[in-house]
Amino acid sequence: MKFPKTDLPLREPALLVLAYRYLVKDENGEVVETPEEMFWRVARTVAEAESFFGEDPEPWAEKFYHLMASLDFLPNSPTLMNAGLPLGQLSACFVLPIEDSLASIFETLKNAALIHKSGGGTGFSFSRIRPKGDVVRSTQGVASGPVSFMRVFNAATEAIKQGGKRRGANMGILRIDHPDIEDFILVKRDFKELTNFNLSVALTDAFMEALRKDDYFSLINPRTQKEVRRVRARRLFDLLVESAWLTGDPGVIFIDTINRDNPTPLLSEIESTNPCSEQPLLPYESCNLGSINLSRFVKEGQVDYVRLKEVVHLAVRFLDNVIEVNRFPLPQIARITRLNRKIGLGVMGFADLLIRLEIPYTSREAVRLAEEIMAFIERESVAASMELGQKRGSFPAYAGSVWDKPETPHMRNATTTTIAPTGTLSLIAGTSSGIEPLFALIYRRRAFDGAEWTEVHDLFLEALAHYGLSSQDIVSEILEKGSLRKISGVPEKLKKLFVTALEIPPEQHLAVQAAFQRHTHNAVSKTINLPENATKEEVAHIYLKAYEMGLKGVTVYRYGSRPEQVLRLPKDK
Ligand code: UDP
Repeated sequence: MKFPKTDLPLREPALLVLAYRYLVKDENGEVVETPEEMFWRVARTVAEAESFFGEDPEPWAEKFYHLMASLDFLPNSPTLMNAGLPLGQLSACFVLPIEDSLASIFETLKNAALIHKSGGGTGFSFSRIRPKGDVVRSTQGVASGPVSFMRVFNAATEAIKQGGKRRGANMGILRIDHPDIEDFILVKRDFKELTNFNLSVALTDAFMEALRKDDYFSLINPRTQKEVRRVRARRLFDLLVESAWLTGDPGVIFIDTINRDNPTPLLSEIESTNPCSEQPLLPYESCNLGSINLSRFVKEGQVDYVRLKEVVHLAVRFLDNVIEVNRFPLPQIARITRLNRKIGLGVMGFADLLIRLEIPYTSREAVRLAEEIMAFIERESVAASMELGQKRGSFPAYAGSVWDKPETPHMRNATTTTIAPTGTLSLIAGTSSGIEPLFALIYRRRAFDGAEWTEVHDLFLEALAHYGLSSQDIVSEILEKGSLRKISGVPEKLKKLFVTALEIPPEQHLAVQAAFQRHTHNAVSKTINLPENATKEEVAHIYLKAYEMGLKGVTVYRYGSRPEQVLRLPKDK
């Protein structure tokens, strides 16, 4: 693959990923678009929406182009991949309903396939499906249960590569009170199972209460609403913790916490999130995300709030326009998405921002800054959505929603904020992903196509140069010892500033996640990375703490616990 030509400040990994998955190709697979042309294609398409509201699209296209080409902000991958092209599907996140019937299960399977083809990820709750061994009256047979149907979804996903660009990602949710919950908790201990799924158990307040009291808890057949058996909450919890400790799956979502924040409870209840669990959605709802690159907002050692405000307002307008020009894969999805008009503006490059401001990720100051920045983004994004609401009309489900009050007489979007993982976006922008700390200072990255490369963090190289240290010597010492902490002659300040994910206590990971969650309408994607020797008790403690802190979900990952791990430390390559 040749590197595309560009005058934009894109690094090699960004150029590679763009060439493989984003830039338009001809029928021979040759790239026929430059990154500049890609951003123009997206900017022009998104600006077309301006004409629906009596504005001239051209100046807006110009603004949107600079918003992206500067790498200040990037919309989620499907927008970059599909805008202005025949598919025209621009959203990353979908949730589809599954009722307890073969017709519904296979209808949703077909719909998921269409979404995957367009680059979107799908989340489903399997909780309504009757348990294994239950009666099937029409055939006089026995039911095979949610996990067996998840295998069907998994196999279908395997067969469809997303437009040849990315493989379908799925979230499978099961409520903790479903009779098949043990099968669900155990299934991914076998690494060959459900490889295209992230799993999350939906924990309820009732379960957390039973756990606190060390009480028994009822498992309910969703078909009959009758209790099937009672189990000790502690036993289920221990099983869940053990699976997460062993393999990272399942994660948990706190489904009642999520529903307390449902902006349109009159429409319906939330029962699932998208694949990386940052976006709770109603059945058939979709959401388009976008992320601001915080590392670009430092001016004279401070956060540049003046420019950040401008970018937030422009980004909200961009994301609202995306709903206008989006080609939805199904009429049901178009309907509910246009009723709520949810958008998810978030951030990437938080760790790099901290480094530029000389604030260690492990400090209280980091948590304080997380809170300050996200409160600012939330406030400004709401202000931007209110202005748009006044000009363009509030989202149609506004009446009876949480926004239906005198302080917010107009609101264009039922939600404005989400913190996405930015797995690929951060690579394009050349910054740290989402709100994650640096995973390592030097690491081998393995890409979707098997390509591997070694990266040394550029801010680390800059810092070494600043202190007059030889990068060659230090890099080879890190490669040998695995950590900066063990190297003599490196100033303590640098060791603190360049702290990496596995050296950060889980409490601090949680504190940063919670600070962002307090100012995010939707949810926050974050992995609580644990060293290989972390214990099950630590995982249990993290889950309980996450619930108390009001998080909507939590994902732990113990280093080395999966054979196909994406990020590896160089000493383990
Ligand atoms: N997603 C997907 N397939 C992928 C990666 C992501 O369907 O291979 C969806 C999924 O819903 C995920 C969301 O995109 O939760 C956002 O992920 P991320 O921010 O990592 O995507 P990016 O926009 O950086 O590609």
